Amino acid sequence: MNLSFASEQIFNKFVTRVYHPKLAEFLWWWCDQFYKAVITSCWRSDGVHSTGRAVDLRSYIYSNPEGMAKLVNAEWEYDPKRPGKYDVVYYHGPPNHFHIQVHDRTTYGRNP
Ligand SMILES: [Zn+2]
Repeated sequence: MNLSFASEQIFNKFVTRVYHPKLAEFLWWWCDQFYKAVITSCWRSDGVHSTGRAVDLRSYIYSNPEGMAKLVNAEWEYDPKRPGKYDVVYYHGPPNHFHIQVHDRTTYGRNP
């Protein structure tokens, strides 16, 4: 488990806010799968980031971020009641990064 933060300011936002339990579960799983994660943004006042259900992760530390996003979205389903509408992982930019988001119904093991 190797979880780090892009700055002290982001670390402070991470430890002083409440995040969704599924996000905790997901981040643990991500670090277990890929050995490391760097949080580049967490709580902020806009969009899903304001709900404690999203973080952004640094992507350039991995060799194939696009492939990772596909793999993870094949295994995690954002909301089984709205299949295909939203993903858990978005790889986008600029600057390129992973946007991670969860929902109450986010499920692991879509394609076991
Ligand atoms: Zn984001």
